[in-house]
Amino acid sequence: MDDFLDIQATFSDLVSNRRMPHAVLIEGGTADKRANAAKYLSMYAVCSSEKRPCGVCKNCIKAKGMGHSDIYTPKLSGKTNIISVEAVRELIKDASIIPNEADTKVFILSDVDRCMPEISQNAFLKILEEPPQSTLFILTAESSKKMLSTILSRVQVFTLKNENATDEQTDALALEIIEGILALNEHKLLLATAKLSNRVVFKDTLNVVSEYLRQALSQSVGNTNQSDIAKTVAKKLTRQRIIGLIELSSKATIKADRNVNMALLTTWLCGEYRRISWQR
Ligand SMILES: [Zn+2]
Repeated sequence: MDDFLDIQATFSDLVSNRRMPHAVLIEGGTADKRANAAKYLSMYAVCSSEKRPCGVCKNCIKAKGMGHSDIYTPKLSGKTNIISVEAVRELIKDASIIPNEADTKVFILSDVDRCMPEISQNAFLKILEEPPQSTLFILTAESSKKMLSTILSRVQVFTLKNENATDEQTDALALEIIEGILALNEHKLLLATAKLSNRVVFKDTLNVVSEYLRQALSQSVGNTNQSDIAKTVAKKLTRQRIIGLIELSSKATIKADRNVNMALLTTWLCGEYRRISWQR
């Protein structure tokens, strides 16, 4: 249970009161943290021991391996991986059937702020208004801001601590990205941009990248008191290319705010950085 220690603290009240709500929303933290917290709660719900979640009973082990027949995750559909109204209807139908092996049936809906359009949230509201006996709905979201207030009023919200990267980490990654842009082959930049999968890290890092690029631009017009990396960029790239890179960075930051797939976004960004700096 060691991997769940910090998560346990978040749910300690819930666990000590032994009063499981019908629906919870886990927000904040990183995607991994939220997934772990959802897993922890699902173990809690299906565990067959006195002290829940024990982590060692048959139910816990299956839940931990995401192979429990009473733990259900809706199918995602479409190019943007959404939970469609049809998927919600299927889920509602499924929730009316009693659990197989545990006492509780669990539904995990991940990243609902991104995956659940309003129309699906509205369909889902029906079951939250009259939840069947012995069901637990676990929703996760980066932020609950995009959720309908009617849903929020019917779920118990748990907020995980946001552990943003430190300034030094952000700065180091920004430098890695710029060095990747300047490198002869794409490999270095691919490795660096792959670390941008978290939306917050993505935006923070690109801000610093833009700052360095602006310094490089300044360097190229004679303001020579800039950072070493800015000097290197100014030496290797034309002003036009640097401006292109700055524009791309802000465009990418705007895209990150929309509900785009982060893996696709980082791949696109890597290709565009290379194209702007190397195209003849
Ligand atoms: Zn157990």
